[in-house]
Amino acid sequence: MVINKIQKQCEVCNELFTPKTVTSVYCSRHCSDVAYRKRKVQKKKEDQRRAVIESIPDDRPYISVPEAVALLGIAKSTLYRLVRQGRIPAINLGTRLVRIDRVTVEQMFPDQPKTLPTKENPAVKLYRLEREDCYTIGEIAKKFGISDSSVYKHIRKFSIPIRQIGKFVYAPKTEIDSIYNSR
Ligand SMILES: [Zn+2]
Repeated sequence: MVINKIQKQCEVCNELFTPKTVTSVYCSRHCSDVAYRKRKVQKKKEDQRRAVIESIPDDRPYISVPEAVALLGIAKSTLYRLVRQGRIPAINLGTRLVRIDRVTVEQMFPDQPKTLPTKENPAVKLYRLEREDCYTIGEIAKKFGISDSSVYKHIRKFSIPIRQIGKFVYAPKTEIDSIYNSR
């Protein structure tokens, strides 16, 4: 009679091994040490990330790139891609001074530590801020026959995301049309 011993795949090196106990997940002492060190590094990173998140003042509407990276738990390159795609509104105040719209970030990732969904902040809403989906402030003023400063006032009042490219400020057509057409 052949007894097939149950084999497992080591979580570190992926080799098959015969576990000593039902809970064994590593093939060897070496792999178990590697896994332990990895967990320690991860915990340190997670602690640092939480410290950054904790240090963000609650009332600041914009957050920096390192703060957004910590808040989202994503790579910096991913964040820059989302900003480039216009999925996260950001203001570029110079190469090292990108400011990310905090509310949008929090709404995109509502399960993050400081961003538990609340009544005031219930929905994940993504805005398309590509040029073709936006009006400039001047276009809005002209289209709806109001002054630039009124446009800015309404944008603030309705928390409409804006994006600045060069000297022009852009706001999503869908949001602008919905506030002025409902009057
Ligand atoms: Zn192994």
